[in-house]
Amino acid sequence: MKLLLHTCCAPCSIQCVETLRAGDIHPDLFWYNPNIHPYTEYRSRRDTLIKFAGDEGLELILDDEYGLRAFIAGVLGNLGNRCPYCYRTRLEKTAAFAAEHGYDSFSTTLLISPYQKHEVIRGIGEDAAARYGVQFFYRDFRPGFREGQKQAREQSFYMQKYCGCIFSEEERYLN
Ligand code: SF4
Repeated sequence: MKLLLHTCCAPCSIQCVETLRAGDIHPDLFWYNPNIHPYTEYRSRRDTLIKFAGDEGLELILDDEYGLRAFIAGVLGNLGNRCPYCYRTRLEKTAAFAAEHGYDSFSTTLLISPYQKHEVIRGIGEDAAARYGVQFFYRDFRPGFREGQKQAREQSFYMQKYCGCIFSEEERYLN
């Protein structure tokens, strides 16, 4: 199976890749994350992923659009429920790339995080699959989350302290 794995960061990728490889699936990684702010944070996460991919011998496709303004414009009307827009933006881009470049399926490292809205991600992934004519590979990667974080710390990866958008940074540090 030729699988394109949308990747939000290196720490979340470790166990997703290990789980897929254990099932004899060797994914290519796809970076597209206009939800990560500010730019220095975006750069830290992206560059850590580049190192991880190089160390692991993984193909990494970078859609390196910082995209701050478009992202803010997209969520501004519904800040209290902004995550579905955030998931959709990233998964539709991944599905489109997968369909255009001959992948059988796509998935996302967002499915490993116990802090994300897992079932919303799954639904949006399946919608994007139907829209672009490529399969959404669903897997509940969450059992590997803690182990992946531990491995990331052992390898001295950059570890983010908040989800990504500037609003999540405020939620993390204000009060
Ligand atoms: S909290 Fe996380 S998932 Fe939700 S909009 Fe912000 S970056 Fe995206």
